[in-house]
Amino acid sequence: MYRGRFAPSPTGPLHAGSIFAALASYLDARAQHGVWLVRIEDLDPPRESKEAAADILRTLEALGLTWDEQVIYQSQRAAAYEEALARLDARKLLYACNCSRQKLSSAGTVYPGWCRDHHIVRGSATALRCQVGDASISFIDRLQGEYSQQLGRDIGDFIVHRRDGLFAYQLAVVVDDAWQGITDVVRGIDLLDSTPRQIYLQGQLGYPVPRYAHVPIIINAEGQKLGKQQYARPIERTQPGQVLFRTLQALRQHPVADLATASTDEMLAWAIANWKPQNLAGIRDLPEFEGSASPAV
Ligand code: GLU
Repeated sequence: MYRGRFAPSPTGPLHAGSIFAALASYLDARAQHGVWLVRIEDLDPPRESKEAAADILRTLEALGLTWDEQVIYQSQRAAAYEEALARLDARKLLYACNCSRQKLSSAGTVYPGWCRDHHIVRGSATALRCQVGDASISFIDRLQGEYSQQLGRDIGDFIVHRRDGLFAYQLAVVVDDAWQGITDVVRGIDLLDSTPRQIYLQGQLGYPVPRYAHVPIIINAEGQKLGKQQYARPIERTQPGQVLFRTLQALRQHPVADLATASTDEMLAWAIANWKPQNLAGIRDLPEFEGSASPAV
């Protein structure tokens, strides 16, 4: 049984880029008669708000993207993440790291393992890193084809528990995808290079590996990812039909013109029946589309 999910971090209202990913994941699940879940990834309280989470859910509802089962909040899942850390620890994969931000930035993007053999005592100012050894991870993305990383060379030992005491995204996402029985992850291509780390953790924790499909991200005129950082305008809830129609066009589903004035339910029924994820194959980014920054009122 197909089980998919949309897993937004509640750092602000949904914008065109996140609605694009949400709709792709929803259509993929429904086209396969699957279950579609929403998980709020509220792991980082200083960057997030309760209002943003509520706002995201209201927007999904307005668009007709109804989810199954209960919404899961990662802020409630600390015990499960602790347990996963303990299992990694029992496998001797974890070590404490006290490298300063400055020192880390001198290393660039690959952590060279400085603290690996230092037996640093775990405490309030240390992160926990997971050793990757010489693991090579390769998988076939449904849209992007084969993707491989040699983790030691491309990433280095990576953080699973942050020095500020928060659980790392890579850990939480793997624990929750397994706990929720997710078979299919459909999400933005900005997370493609995280996937080998997640597959590695799934292996270490004895979890199944879901199928992955990484959809393009939406970029603005300057070539930056449309995201909260760029203050993409939130999508108004007052014009859900327009937003859906334009997002279907951006997803290259070629909605027939007649559909532009249909109800959201009719539009979604058409889109589920005609879902062609292959139209996005090999595409890494797409320009902002008409109405993505500010739907016409
Ligand atoms: N919470 C992540 C984000 O909003 C997405 C996680 C995922 O889909 O794996 O970027």
